[in-house]
Amino acid sequence: MDLDSPPLFSLMNLERKANLRNLKNVKNLKNCSHLIIWRGKLLFQFNDGKPFPYLIKQRIRFIQSLKKYIFLGEFENRNVVLWDISDSREVLGNTEQIGSFNDPERNFHPDLPKNTYFCDLRNLLPLLNPKYGNLCATAKGMYEWHKRVSFCQSCGGKLSSKKAGWEKTCEKCNYKQFPRIDPVVIMLVKKGNDILLGRSHGWPAKMYSCLAGFIEPGETIEAAAEREVMEESGVRIKNVQYVTSQPWPFPASLMIGCTGEAQSRTIKIDKDELEDVIWVSKEEVFRALNGLDTSIFMARKGAIARYLIEKWVAGLI
Ligand SMILES: [Zn+2]
Repeated sequence: MDLDSPPLFSLMNLERKANLRNLKNVKNLKNCSHLIIWRGKLLFQFNDGKPFPYLIKQRIRFIQSLKKYIFLGEFENRNVVLWDISDSREVLGNTEQIGSFNDPERNFHPDLPKNTYFCDLRNLLPLLNPKYGNLCATAKGMYEWHKRVSFCQSCGGKLSSKKAGWEKTCEKCNYKQFPRIDPVVIMLVKKGNDILLGRSHGWPAKMYSCLAGFIEPGETIEAAAEREVMEESGVRIKNVQYVTSQPWPFPASLMIGCTGEAQSRTIKIDKDELEDVIWVSKEEVFRALNGLDTSIFMARKGAIARYLIEKWVAGLI
């Protein structure tokens, strides 16, 4: 990992160009590239095993007839439009693990170029070039919002998409809704030479990560960090410091990465929330990160937890 770079998804190289969202035909602008998503899986092309989002320069047959689209912004001098083809029955491949924590299946459309596949973004995290991170995260996050929000929160009426997909208006009462994100605080809890790591129920075997939780109404980032660590592990922390943040579109989070200093070592696990919580030394973390110890796996590459852990091992936080 390049420890000077931001976390994956956080390199802000997608220019959103919000002023163009008002245009009636932004999808027909010159210089448009089209990105396709199917059941939450973006279309990627693979070169030497490395994925990059496949941007199509012409509107192809199966997006020709679609009316709804999302204008994502300008990326590498092209205006990028996202199309959802989830209704397509022509996409092939196994669908059993769609929506699961880790869907490794590469689905494909017979009319698209040979080495293009619909892939689960989370599954590709360790392979994705950070240059494409923010484009993919924005596309995935917007898809998730459109999928989950179809009815008015005020009256239950049907919503219609406006402003190139960035607003939904109720057809009955005119109430407007906008894409929302959920702030989540994620903490690297330190005590001397150790950090506190936990694992949730249902995670891949032996995988551990930083403790995290949603910020509640009325809370500051610091208060949420202190409360979540206390609730999940019984450990009191102080001196919460902000480090960095990461959009996390699974489905709608903004991860706020912090450090905190533990006031005690005694762990009392909330078994409803977590399966296990442990203290791990810097040497143990180093060995796990470098594949020298397979009894414990650190959070995956690309996740902010991994970023915080690697920075800590390097002595940077
Ligand atoms: Zn309404």
